[in-house]
Amino acid sequence: MNILSILLAVLPVLSGPDGRLQVRLDNGGGQLRYSIAYDGKNLVEPSLLGLQTNEADYTRLEFLSADTQEVRDTYTLDRIKASRIDHPAVNAVLHCKNADGRPLDIEWHLTANDAAFRYRIPRDTETGSIRVLRETSAFRFPEGTTGFLTPQSHAMIGWKRSKPSYEEFYSLDAPLDQRSQYGHGFTFPCLFRVGGDGWVLVSETGVDSRYCASHLSDYDPQEGYSIAFPMPEENNGNGTVEPAFALPGATPWRTLTVGSGLAPIVETTIAFDVVEPRYETTRGYRYGKSSWSWIVWQDASMNKADQIAYIDLAAAMDWPYILIDAGWDKEFGHAGMEELVRYARSKGVDVFLWYSSSGWWNDIVQSPVDIMCDPLARKPEMRWMERIGVKGIKVDFFGGDKQETIRLYEAILSDADDHGLMCIFHGATLPRGWERMYPNYVGSEAVLASENMVFGQNHCDLESQNAALHPFLRNTVGCMEFGGVFLNKRLNRANGAPGPGGRIFGTQRRTTDAAELAVAVLYQNPIQNFALTPNNLTDAPAEAIAFLREVPTTWDETRLIDGYPGRNIVLARRHGATWYVAAINASGQPLQLDVHAIEQRLGGTARVYSTGKDGLQAGPAAKKPLSLPKDDGAVLVIR
Ligand code: CA
Repeated sequence: MNILSILLAVLPVLSGPDGRLQVRLDNGGGQLRYSIAYDGKNLVEPSLLGLQTNEADYTRLEFLSADTQEVRDTYTLDRIKASRIDHPAVNAVLHCKNADGRPLDIEWHLTANDAAFRYRIPRDTETGSIRVLRETSAFRFPEGTTGFLTPQSHAMIGWKRSKPSYEEFYSLDAPLDQRSQYGHGFTFPCLFRVGGDGWVLVSETGVDSRYCASHLSDYDPQEGYSIAFPMPEENNGNGTVEPAFALPGATPWRTLTVGSGLAPIVETTIAFDVVEPRYETTRGYRYGKSSWSWIVWQDASMNKADQIAYIDLAAAMDWPYILIDAGWDKEFGHAGMEELVRYARSKGVDVFLWYSSSGWWNDIVQSPVDIMCDPLARKPEMRWMERIGVKGIKVDFFGGDKQETIRLYEAILSDADDHGLMCIFHGATLPRGWERMYPNYVGSEAVLASENMVFGQNHCDLESQNAALHPFLRNTVGCMEFGGVFLNKRLNRANGAPGPGGRIFGTQRRTTDAAELAVAVLYQNPIQNFALTPNNLTDAPAEAIAFLREVPTTWDETRLIDGYPGRNIVLARRHGATWYVAAINASGQPLQLDVHAIEQRLGGTARVYSTGKDGLQAGPAAKKPLSLPKDDGAVLVIR
């Protein structure tokens, strides 16, 4: 090594725009590692960088030089937790070479509380395309760190062999040296508590047809977690697990959000900051609330009388949409659907239609099938939908995380936009920056959603815990199609009326009505398919119905007031000049909610939705703080 290369090899420390976040690089042992500190506290220990392609091995990298630039993330987006993003950031490109002298750049994007990186591979030879065999990017945490993690499922298990679909339980605050439930690691996002020093949220963004979706491996005592690719068995074994792209090209972004507290975790926009729209749209998309018969009335509701009841429910609530779920094609046919859509539109209600993604990756029987997977069938179907005035589709039961499946999502989105159709995905992967990348993308399930509360009592028992968890995890990195807000006490059509033999059927809701109203604010998705049923118009508290008429589904700003993942949360979202502050308690300790302190902090006077001795009540704040027991919640509407 000559003097010049020694000078060049001085490793930079990258600082975020306010200097509190620092990324340190180290080149010991012929490998490049990064570590992250916030306010001087080490939150990420030296962790490997690198990847291996079929053309070159970039797992042993030497740092050469860095180009660093101050920039601003400035954009508007109408579908996420905030409508206008404008903050300083730092871009740094680290020029590196591998052991054979082949160049590779690592691009970093730093905001006050986020560090994101990706690999950029140049076209430095004749070779114009590569396959990525593995990525060694790792995430190591200090001794004593605990995780809030959900496992990656086996492939080809579950309902009609439709997993993995990001529908697994979370372990909370668990030690890291544990094998995941299925031995395939953990799906994004992954939250880590570094003792009393701070928090780290790890995820990825910018995944499109040019890569697969990744997850974290199981924990390795030496290297921590590393990026793991899809399993060969996904998509019924069809399609590669080695993503391929043309050169020059780049991997998706690996994102780390850090803070001494949890507010940066809940408020981060890094999933959207580093991506760009993949196509422009000429359409205008309108968001809002929707009725949905399937969630409580289930398959039996796929008939004309019940669908009309739910169209009328949407109209009575001044909601713009109805979601018509699986089986509509068999019940009504396309001609019958035209008639139903005409009826809905005459009531001022627009229609979303359900489709299976279909194809050769599972055993799904819910119909329509074999349309969304096939461009030759998909395009005329979408032309038909546009002609009759359908406004969106819900596509269900995808095949996993392989590049082939990500390509299908992108193809459906792009074709749908040609026909002014919005897209909701269920039985699906996590969205990774798609809210900004695809103008007609609305939201994805990728969570154990409301349907499970209808299927099993344990999910009702966990409802408040999940509502106190997802805003810190699943919902902080992307829109979440949960389909919640139940006002039925029993989650079936009878709602507590005795069935055959005088028995009462159906799972039982544990939460108060006030807690259910809180869920409408805690869970963010620009179109909310609420679980309201037609009987709720007369059997639910009038204040609850009035609130669900009014509550927005789009937000200008989001702020965490208080909370701890899985225990409780107090979250503020602003729509225009009005703040909606939602609180829910999942712990045995009462949650104290000082309404006057929150009024002062946000500015304005609250109308408080809380639980009185006769059930839901609404009115001005009382003098004393509210004390919320387990499974209770509250909403403050502050004007
Ligand atoms: Ca599902």
